[in-house]
Parts: sequence; structure tokens; C-alpha cells
Amino acid sequence: MLKARIKQLGGVLTMSVLKKCIHCGKENTKIYSDGCCQTCHLYVKRGGIFHPLPNKGEVKLDDRGMYICHICGTAHDKLGEHVRRKHKILIASYRKQFEIKSTQRLTSDEYHDKMKEHNLKNDAIGYLKK
Ligand SMILES: [Zn+2]
Ligand SMILES: [Zn+2]
Repeated sequence: MLKARIKQLGGVLTMSVLKKCIHCGKENTKIYSDGCCQTCHLYVKRGGIFHPLPNKGEVKLDDRGMYICHICGTAHDKLGEHVRRKHKILIASYRKQFEIKSTQRLTSDEYHDKMKEHNLKNDAIGYLKK
């Protein structure tokens, strides 16, 4: 319906109708009325805050003890998983790009211990699938 109307106004506009998420800049996706894509929308809905991006080499935590992403400013208890899923990069590249030491933990303490066992299980499943 929207597209049809724009066509009436002049086809040139059709290209610029692609909406961008105001937070992560993701294009060509479902954008909610608050200007966010689904991921950002859900993040905000769950009480997430968009923080100023941390400086290179600096690891910042929000008041819930979650790690703030250097790329999009959202906070996560498992930053590695976030950057892999959301930004399609491995945590190793992320560390390199933002000059974060490999000794710097990027997972909150509480989560870390819980995940140790889980990861082992997941790895086993992953190998079986291959
Ligand atoms: Zn977004
Ligand atoms: Zn991010």
C-alpha cells in the first residue's frame, strides 16, 4: 500500500523507502514505530539501554554488570555471543578491532560459570552435527 502511493508520487522515492534502525543501522527490515529494528526493539522492551560507545581498549559495564558492546552500545552478559549473532564477527576479531586484551573477560561472572558446562555440552552437539 505504501509502495503504491510512493509510486504515484514518483518512482524515484521507492529506493529511499528502505528504513534504517536508529540504533544499529540495520536496513531493509521490520522497523517499529520507535524507529528500531526487532532486535533493538526487544532489547529496549526488556529494559535495555543504549549506552555511549566505549573507547578502544576500554571495557565498560552497565549498572547491571553487563558488558557494553563497542559497536552498538547495547549491554550484554554474553558479549561474545552478541557480537557473533548481531555483528557477525567472532569475539577474537572484536577484541582485535577494539584493542581488548584476551585476558579481559567479556562475560559476566555469574554467567561465566553457568555457561562452562553448557558450552561443553553444546560443543559436543556441534561436533555431532558436523
Ligand atoms: Zn536495530
Ligand atoms: Zn553490538
